[in-house]
Parts: sequence; C-alpha cells; structure tokens
Amino acid sequence: MYDVIVIGGGPAGYVAAIRASQLGLNTVCIEKYTDDRKNPIFGGTCLNSGCIPSKALLDSSQKFYDASKSYKSHGIGIENIMIDLSVMMDRKNSIVKKLTSGIDSLLKANKVNIISGSGKVLAGSKVQLTTLDNSIEILESKNIIIATGSSPIEIKAANFDDKNIVDSTGALEFDEIPKKLGVIGAGVIGLELGSVWARLGSKVTIIEAMDDFLSMTDRDIARASLKEFQKQGLDIKLGSRVISSQYGKEKIKVIYEDKKNKSEIEFDKLIVAVGRSPNTKNIFSEDSGVELDSNGFIFVDDYCQTNASNVWAIGDVVRGPMLAHKGSEEGIMVAERIASKDTKLNYDLVPSVIYTHPEIAWVGKNESELKAENIDYKIGSFPFAASGRALAADESVGFVKLLSDKNDDGLLGAHVFGASAAEILQQALISMEFDSSAEDLSLIMFSHPTVSEALHEAALSIHDHAIHLVNKRK
Ligand code: FAD
Ligand code: NAD
Repeated sequence: MYDVIVIGGGPAGYVAAIRASQLGLNTVCIEKYTDDRKNPIFGGTCLNSGCIPSKALLDSSQKFYDASKSYKSHGIGIENIMIDLSVMMDRKNSIVKKLTSGIDSLLKANKVNIISGSGKVLAGSKVQLTTLDNSIEILESKNIIIATGSSPIEIKAANFDDKNIVDSTGALEFDEIPKKLGVIGAGVIGLELGSVWARLGSKVTIIEAMDDFLSMTDRDIARASLKEFQKQGLDIKLGSRVISSQYGKEKIKVIYEDKKNKSEIEFDKLIVAVGRSPNTKNIFSEDSGVELDSNGFIFVDDYCQTNASNVWAIGDVVRGPMLAHKGSEEGIMVAERIASKDTKLNYDLVPSVIYTHPEIAWVGKNESELKAENIDYKIGSFPFAASGRALAADESVGFVKLLSDKNDDGLLGAHVFGASAAEILQQALISMEFDSSAEDLSLIMFSHPTVSEALHEAALSIHDHAIHLVNKRK
C-alpha cells in the first residue's frame, strides 16, 4: 500500500511526487512515455514537446534573425550567414534530453518509486497499471493524484497527417524550413512557433477564427503587439475560419472564409494550434466515481480535490490556464495537503507569458475585466523607448502598464510588452503577492541602467510623477 500514487510525470505530476516524498510519504509516479529501453521519460509535454524545445528554437531563431537583420546597426557585418537546421534541432534535442534525465535523477534522489506504464483510476483508491508488455497489476494507495496532462485539439477542416499538417510537436521537428507556412490559430502556440519559422525565413500566414487578437490580453498590448508582429512579417488573418485543407502535389491547399469572402491559399506545411484538451479518456473505470465537466476536465475544488475521496487532480486536466508553473504549484499544494498542511494557492496571481519577440506578459486584471467588475482604477505606464538600457540594447519596442485600485492604491494588474517582459513581470508579481500599493513599488530603488526601471517609472506614473515620461497617460 502506497501513501500516494501519481499518474503522469509532467511538471504537475513529477513535482507532486517529489514534494510528497520529501514529506515522508511513500510515493510512486507512473509514466507511460518511454525510451527505446522502456524506461520512463519524465517532464511531460513541457519538457519533451512544449515549453523547453519551443524556447530552444525561439532562442536559436532569434540569434539568426539578429545576426542577419539587427547586428548591422551595431557596426557588425557577417558575410555568408547560413542556417544548419539539423544542428539547431540537435541542440534543442540535447537540451530536452539533459533536462528529462535530470528529472529522472531528481525523482530517484528523492526516493520516489518510478514505474513505466499506463495508470487507470479504479474505485476504492486503487490504480490499474498496464505495463508496456500489456500485463496488468492492481496497486493500492491512500491517495491518488491524476496528472495526465493534455493533447492538441484536432479539427475536421485540417486533420493531422503528422508530416505536412501537424500539431505543435510536429512543428518543432520540421527537417527543412518551409517556404510558405500556414498556422491555424493565433494563440500562444501559433504566435510562438509561427515566429520561430518566420525568423528562419518562412513566409508565415496565421488564420484566426476570432475577430479580436489575443482576446485574453490587455487591449493596449493586443493592439501594439499585433502591429509589431505584422511589421515582423506575420500575415495574421483575423475573423477567418478554415473550411478545408487538402494535401496534394507537395502543397497543402487551404480554403478559408472571412465575413466577406471565401479564399484559397497554398502552404508547404500547416500547423494546427487551436487549443488543447485534457487527457481524461480511459483514465477512469466507470465505477471510479470521478466527475468530469462537459469539456472533459476533471471537476476539482480550490484545493484540487475531486468528488471521489482521496482522489486529487492537477495541471492541464483541471480548470484554469494550461501552464506548467500552475500545474507544478498545484502539485506542491496537493502533496502538502495530503501531508496535513494547510497550503493554498493564489489563483488570482497566475502569471502568463507569450515568448514572442518582444514578449507579452501579464498577471492580475486587465482594464476590460476591471470595467466589467465596476472597479475604479488608475493607470500607470512607461514606454521602453524612454529607457536608457532598452535603447542601448536595441529593445525599445513596447511598454509596462500597471493598474491600481483608485481607492487604496493596491496593484490590481501588471501588463508588459517588451524584450524582457517575463522577467520584469515577475517583479510586479512579487509586489502584488505581498499586497504592495503602487506607491510601495515606486519607493523601491531600482538599479540603473536596467530595463526594470520601466516598471519603477510605471509605478511612479500612477501618481503622475514619473521622472522620464514625456507623454503621460491620464
Ligand atoms: P503534461 O506535461 O502533459 O504531462 C502529463 C504526463 O502524463 C505525460 O508525460 C504523459 O505521458 C503522462 N500520462 C498521460 N496519461 C497517462 C497514463 N494513463 N498513465 C501514465 N502516464 C500518463 N507552459 C508554460 O507554462 N510555459 C511555456 O512556455 C509553455 N510552452 C508550451 C509550448 C508548447 C508547444 C506546448 C504544447 C505547451 C506549452 N506549455 C507551456 C504548456 C505546458 O506544456 C503544460 O501546461 C504542462 O506541460 C502541463 O503539465 P501537466 O503535468 O499537467 O501535463
Ligand atoms: P490557445 O487557446 O492559446 O489559442 C488557440 C487559438 O486558436 C485561439 O486564438 C482560438 O480563437 C483559435 N481557434 C480555435 N479554433 C479555431 C479554428 N477552427 N480556426 C481558427 N482559429 C481557431 O491554444 P494554443 O495556442 O493551441 O495553446 C494551447 C495551450 O498551451 C494554451 O492554453 C497555452 O496556455 C499553452 N501554451 C502556453 C505557452 C506559454 O506559456 N508561453 C506556450 C504554448 C502553449
């Protein structure tokens, strides 16, 4: 009898397993993804086909882009610049391998039991384990944590063929740079992976069903980033729906329509990035009693407990944004609650980042949400064009925007569009977690010159005393 069985070894599951074991609980982590020798590979989508490989390619492609486009203004010329895509891919793959084997070592060092195979939740705190040779074993545990993650959504108008019409995993593995690349969905994946291939030379067209660009972000940031991405060469067709796609004669013919016209366009490759759905099929026996919602997410309370006793669920299989850090923090919370600690998460402060260039990062409320909730707010903002460090680094696009409560000055939202947005946002997030007011943030001394000074100036500008701001927003 185990204390904890974790099903799934992604950033939610492996973190939960490590924390549970740290707390003295006899823990096993079951993972079905394996190498050739049938050893489990941990890290889930994030390490194997998500966060890490996409960022490796984003960084490689940005280096190529900078070397070919922006070094000239620094007085640096490079002749005969070239791309060896196989070296770029090998670099990405070796980073993934290093990190996934690192997780394996961490699990072992923390005395987590590791099993290769597929887990299924049965009634009465039991798990059916199907091993790789299809033998079945029943494991018993005081607690079960489901962390089976999510998979790309497939649409009828563009079925995956894993070679030409691909999901995000396929888009990280092209063996040549497509001349014309189509992307369905201008969400996080569409923009990040579209940017990778555009920087390497593809002509990228993104077809997005919604009229609004990045509807989950602050409208000022959505407007500014759309303009910037278009300037970078991304052809973003909003309010457009794909009707069909067909592969033939080495091209994919895509028919799509907007409000006025039906159009046809040809691509060498097509990425479908229209969201992900939770992996909850075949995870439960019928009598397990665990409830799902109509989209297949597992119903959980604020502490990730399901309606079945001692069954918990974390990460992409439950409500909230599908983000690695959100899943990992849920894993820690659940492990600690199983160990009788009163750990809670602050779901109001889950940070989001889109790793385009410039990056988009936000936390807390945006203006539309504050208006909808009738909350009176003040705005402070500061453009990177007025930051000495940003100018020196040739990164003057974008701005920091802060929203604070008009009544008590408490910070309500932070929104950053800029080259170091993810790192700057984290500083605002720490302030918000400690209930800082805009004034508190403005009283902190920031090193000079740093791009983070833009956050300081945005906080000062809430009270109309930014020092380096020419055009203040009221
Ligand atoms: P997963 O990572 O999907 O892990 C689930 C694990 O469970 C898998 O290893 C799977 O093999 C295993 N499993 C499934 N069923 C069973 C079973 N029955 N038995 C045993 N094992 C099973 N998020 C960010 O925060 N930042 C980013 O920059 C970012 N970039 C991304 C880029 C891309 C291209 C993609 C696709 C996603 C990205 N994400 C990012 C999202 C992030 O990858 C997910 O939110 C995160 O991986 C979810 O973690 P998880 O542990 O819930 O699930
Ligand atoms: P998404 O929800 O971010 O974007 C999907 C987009 O596709 C939306 O804009 C939607 O309107 C559009 N769409 C849906 N159906 C369509 C259709 N039929 N035709 C045209 N457009 C359509 O989803 P995603 O980009 O696939 O990413 C999946 C998840 O992975 C996200 O929840 C995200 O949080 C996570 N992720 C995070 C990061 C990060 O944190 N940097 C990076 C990649 C992925």
